Amino acid sequence: MRGKTHLAIGVAIGAGAAVYFSPDLTHAHTYIGAAAFSALAADLDGTSMLSGKLTKASRQIRQYAVWVGCICAAAVLYLWLAGHTVRLEIACAGISAMLIGLTMSTGAIRNALVSLVGIGVAALGLSRGEWWLIGVGVFIAWAPWLNHRGLTHTLWMIPLWWWLGTGLEQDLQVEGLAITAALGYLSHLAADTLTPSGVKWLYPLTKFTFRIKV
Ligand SMILES: [Zn+2]
Repeated sequence: MRGKTHLAIGVAIGAGAAVYFSPDLTHAHTYIGAAAFSALAADLDGTSMLSGKLTKASRQIRQYAVWVGCICAAAVLYLWLAGHTVRLEIACAGISAMLIGLTMSTGAIRNALVSLVGIGVAALGLSRGEWWLIGVGVFIAWAPWLNHRGLTHTLWMIPLWWWLGTGLEQDLQVEGLAITAALGYLSHLAADTLTPSGVKWLYPLTKFTFRIKV
């Protein structure tokens, strides 16, 4: 299922929750934001909405890394031939850049970029003492390395997501955010169940793929 479809469903759930929980709509954007992010989060394990752009960026990073590596190697060679001592930082930067460029696939760099964002979110949570934000950060950092439609697309994620939502709800003092987030996440799995590839709801207990033809 495409990211835009998941997003649309998430926004609809958020709007519904806003009307239900705060009829004066003061917190509408919070409900919609929480539900929309929740509806998209499961696909951080692969083809997220950002994937195209991230893949492009990864390709560029790879190219730059090879260039930086070559330039550093040339610099080291030149310094060595000229009888200078070679600075360790330059040598290390060159070697690591070259390794990234030569050994990491575009996919791995893309995953690493997503993980970096997750680590940033977790660090923000840590600095603000917000455990749920640390949890979301760990999820973002971890998800890209999982098999697509693997663990993030299971029933077990719903209570976990709800639990993270309770932290957000307490933090913002906005009633119903936890259940809104859980519904957003659930909507993703439900929508994917309607696609030909289906969803392994009970993985790893069973690899049985649930799918409903529409
Ligand atoms: Zn999905």
